[in-house]
Amino acid sequence: MKSKMQMIESILKGKNIKLTKQRKAIMEIFLNYDEHFKPEEVYDLVRNQGIGLATVYRTIEILKIHDIIEEITIGKDRYYELKLFSEKALHIHFTCKKCNRIYDYDKTEMVLDLIRLRNFVEKEYHVDVEDMKIMMKGICEKCRR
Ligand SMILES: [Zn+2]
Ligand SMILES: [Zn+2]
Repeated sequence: MKSKMQMIESILKGKNIKLTKQRKAIMEIFLNYDEHFKPEEVYDLVRNQGIGLATVYRTIEILKIHDIIEEITIGKDRYYELKLFSEKALHIHFTCKKCNRIYDYDKTEMVLDLIRLRNFVEKEYHVDVEDMKIMMKGICEKCRR
């Protein structure tokens, strides 16, 4: 069986993009941590391998264009998370305005409501929904205490 990295490699190869050693190291961050990262945070994790911030930005751009990672915008900040292989394909984000943490919510009962919402919009407005981003903002459980 092909590893996730090999699958990504072949997806990019099909688009004539080579997954260099440096790009691989950046990709590994997204595969290994199920988290949302700012480019600077990715950079902090790979800089010891001699990878520069410009390379991080460029690689993120490539991965984003090819739907391997996804961009989330919160205020002025951009975060990235794994899109391909993600088990929580349909989830909503909650961001805490006090601690700036981003939470992923993907409880089945809620996801079913999201699917229902999507189906409703498609039927009612005669469209094909390809993507759905829901962002909630407020104060998280920890900060409410
Ligand atoms: Zn908080
Ligand atoms: Zn997320």
